[in-house]
Amino acid sequence: MKKKKKYVPDALAGKVADIPASFYKARGIRAVLSDLDNTLATYGEPFPSQGLKDYVRSLGEEGIAFYIASNNTGKRVTAFAEALGVESCHALFKPSSFFLKRFLKKKGLKPEECAFVGDQCATDVKSGNGAGLFTILVDHLSAHRPLLTKINGIMDEHYRKIVLSKGLAPDWRNL
Ligand SMILES: [Mg+2]
Repeated sequence: MKKKKKYVPDALAGKVADIPASFYKARGIRAVLSDLDNTLATYGEPFPSQGLKDYVRSLGEEGIAFYIASNNTGKRVTAFAEALGVESCHALFKPSSFFLKRFLKKKGLKPEECAFVGDQCATDVKSGNGAGLFTILVDHLSAHRPLLTKINGIMDEHYRKIVLSKGLAPDWRNL
């Protein structure tokens, strides 16, 4: 089998909360790490929605931990994570996998027991794949993104187009 490209996710989903705990349990996944901006909330939203809180609780009830893994600053990430009642790591420098691997080690998590969910191939998927996690690409919550992230965005749209147009990753419901 040809080696999977680093920016190709293992599965596609509309949004994080679409994927039920049963999907993860069936794959032996006991921790879900998620990007924050444009994955769990739009760039301007400081706090999680009730729907997201309910979803994270539903995972917890099935023994699946949820973590936020973001490139954003500590202030933004920590406040959001606290409101959601989960732990987080920030300034991850995705697409590098270095700090992600370090976080897993600190938490005693094995890569094969973890999933990484995010809205960008160029950062989230690449970083998650690099660390050996099951990666899921979700739709952007909003078309709006801050100027500083626009360069990443160009690469990301390029990768996303390839993944979608060539059918390189299956929808999670078809797995
Ligand atoms: Mg994002």
